[in-house]
Amino acid sequence: MKTQPIYLDDSYIKEMYATILEVHAEAHEKWRVLLDKTVFYPMGGGQSTDQGMLVAKDWQANVYMAMMKDGELWHYVTATVKPEVGMIVQGTINWERRRKNMRLHSAGHVIDFAMHLLGHSPSPLSPLKADHSKKPYIVYQGKVDKDIKEELEKKANELIGKNLQFSWNFQSLEELKKEAIYLQPNLPTSKPLRTLRLETVGAVADGGTIVRYTKEIGQVIITEVEVKENETVVRYSIVPA
Ligand SMILES: [Zn+2]
Repeated sequence: MKTQPIYLDDSYIKEMYATILEVHAEAHEKWRVLLDKTVFYPMGGGQSTDQGMLVAKDWQANVYMAMMKDGELWHYVTATVKPEVGMIVQGTINWERRRKNMRLHSAGHVIDFAMHLLGHSPSPLSPLKADHSKKPYIVYQGKVDKDIKEELEKKANELIGKNLQFSWNFQSLEELKKEAIYLQPNLPTSKPLRTLRLETVGAVADGGTIVRYTKEIGQVIITEVEVKENETVVRYSIVPA
C-alpha cells in the first residue's frame, strides 16, 4: 500500500498534511485520490468510512468516502476543480463521526472480550464477523444453551467501569499466535499484523479505530442475543456515559 495509514497508529489524530500521488476521474466533479499518508479510515472491518475535507491553496474537496480498492486506500472526493498529482493537501476528518465509530467499534471488542471472560468464546462460540455501523452486531458460530444477554451486558459494562486501557502494536503472525485469544481466518502472512490488547484481559488481531480507555465508550446495551441454527448474533448499542 502506497499510503501510510496514520489511523492505525493513533485513532485520535484528526488531521494531516499529505501529497497527492494519483488522481482518477469517477464522475462529474468526482474523483478518487491516492495520498502518501492519511488519517481517513477506509470503510471495512465492520466500521464505517471516515468523511471530511481535503484543502489546498485555492482548492478544496469534500471526502465522502475512503475505501480500499485494488490494495490501495482511495479518498473519494467531490470538488469543483480537478485535484492534481503533487498537490499538498491538509486533510481533516469529521471527528464527531469518527469518535462515534470508534466508540461503537471499541464496544464490539469489549463485548467480545466479555464473551471470552464468561467462558463462551472462542468455544463454543467462535467469532465470525461483526458490524459496528448503524445497527451494530457480532456474529458467532455456534450457540450456548442458555440466555446470556444479561450476564454479557453486565460483564461488558464491568470492563468499561474499570476504565481498562486498550493498547496495540504490530507483530508477525507467529508472534500474534502466541498471545491471541483467537485468530480470524485468512489473516495476511506477508506483513506485520496489528495486535489489539485490552489490559488484564487479552489480545486479538484488529485493524480498526479504537479508544484508549474503555470509559470513553459509555454504557453498552445488549439489545438482543439471537440464536439461530448454528449461529449466535449479539446486537448492541451504546449510550454516552
Ligand atoms: Zn475490530
